[in-house]
Amino acid sequence: MKGDMQRWKPNVASIIEHAKELHPTTEIVSRMISGEIHRTNYDEVCVRARKLASALEKDGYKKGDVLATLALNTYRHLEMYFGISGMGAVTHTLNFRLHPEQAVYIINHAEDKIIFCELPFIPILEALKDQLKTVEKYVILCDESEMPESTLENTISYEEYIKDGDEDYKWPALEDDAACALCYTSGTTGNPKGVLYSHKSNIYHATSAYAALTIDKDDCILMVVPMFHVLAWGIPYFGPMTGNKLVMPGMGMEGDSLYELIDKEGVNSTFGVPTVWMQLLAYCRENNKVLDSVKNTIIGGSALSLAMLKEFDEVHDVNVIHAWGMTEMSPLGTTNLPTKEMETMNKDEKYAIQLKQGRPVFGVELKITDDNGNDLPSDGEAYGHLMVRGPWILQKYFKAENDAVDEEGWFDTGDISSIDKEGYMTIVDRAKDVIKTGGEWISSIDLENAAVGHPEIAEACVVGVPHPKWDERPIMFVVTNSGDKLEKDNILDFLSSKVAKWWLPDEIIFLKELPHGATGKLLKFDLREEYKNLLIDK
Ligand code: AMP
Repeated sequence: MKGDMQRWKPNVASIIEHAKELHPTTEIVSRMISGEIHRTNYDEVCVRARKLASALEKDGYKKGDVLATLALNTYRHLEMYFGISGMGAVTHTLNFRLHPEQAVYIINHAEDKIIFCELPFIPILEALKDQLKTVEKYVILCDESEMPESTLENTISYEEYIKDGDEDYKWPALEDDAACALCYTSGTTGNPKGVLYSHKSNIYHATSAYAALTIDKDDCILMVVPMFHVLAWGIPYFGPMTGNKLVMPGMGMEGDSLYELIDKEGVNSTFGVPTVWMQLLAYCRENNKVLDSVKNTIIGGSALSLAMLKEFDEVHDVNVIHAWGMTEMSPLGTTNLPTKEMETMNKDEKYAIQLKQGRPVFGVELKITDDNGNDLPSDGEAYGHLMVRGPWILQKYFKAENDAVDEEGWFDTGDISSIDKEGYMTIVDRAKDVIKTGGEWISSIDLENAAVGHPEIAEACVVGVPHPKWDERPIMFVVTNSGDKLEKDNILDFLSSKVAKWWLPDEIIFLKELPHGATGKLLKFDLREEYKNLLIDK
């Protein structure tokens, strides 16, 4: 028997209409490329999104067309999220840090028809244009008067493009499970894979995410997490749902620019990956600044270290919420919220819990399995392959023939984890990064986090390399605060008090900087390749 409720045909455009209706004057603040601050509000963003949708229709674009953005976090990107998807096309967000070969592959694979491109990224497309098979038009995100000379053909400024769009455009009804947005995963090997989100999955995800993150209507959110990476963790959807003031940094990701925005705009919630916070914390340390207005910072994308957690808590009195997820999960899987019990714990006990990746948000199921697919207990001791399922987790990759899940709907995240009795999940490592030595496992993440607790170490990266006796042994790459090398024994002594002796790296190599991928994650693959004979040749 079916329920008697209305057959709901979700369209994410309903979110921006809701914000226009209920929070019309709530501000959307963007730092533009010039560094200037631009202010708009939900009323204007909604009307301009309608104009964009109408302009696209007039221009012949249809439901299901894939239209790409190569854009920063600004109000125009927010308009595109709703204008493109709301008219039934698919918003495909492109990362400007992609390797050119990957960018060509992704654009052709997605069959992008338009690319909405930020001014500084025009040279990227000029270099690729002859290889782009499906792109018909480039809409440059600027005023007509700012249009530069370019070798791109068929270009128009965004403002010119939407100028005659209909302010009273009515959003269409979309079919059930209509596609809404497309993101590609940042694979280190092989071709990137697309994840095609639906309107329904994005709305489910957003409603669950803001509840799971306890977002309040009056929160002012600094959206540092880029809109080109997993739909900025859902903020562009749940921000307008809740009515949050959104502050968007554009190109200005350095510590001083972020601090200025936080301070001047009264930001009380920030969302981002650890590498960005490293810069902000360093800026505050060096300039005696305190993040007075910030109440919560939501950190995910890579593991949170104890050093970072302590600095946020002890210096800035900021509550850190550790979260975990992935592109295939829209992305949110777990969050680590403060609990009543934590209030009476001493700091060390509290930190030990906060460093875990958290508990599943409603809608996401987790389990761990061994190498043969057998379920492992959630006892906090056993660790294995982390499997997930839920309404905003992918069924199959874009254009793939086969499902990416097993017959019971479980998707293998590629992470190795444990789950404790209270349901807290802890990532041990990526399956491909865990170091297998003499039949035991070493977590590269734990070693890295132990190392950045050293007062002179800014960043560390650990990889396993072949060893003639132990299969693999860890080697550590270190970037120091001063840029100078330290005594290796000094680091080993420091680590000895934090990890088991057999975990200590066999070699420590000092680098000026570590390789990061397009989304801020450490690129271990290249380091592993380059140093694969280090311990064999010794
Ligand atoms: P992506 O799809 O690029 O967002 O990458 C997802 C992967 O990032 C996950 O499978 C994890 O390996 C890693 N990741 C995300 N959040 C965390 C976290 N809080 N701690 C450790 N690893 C994380």
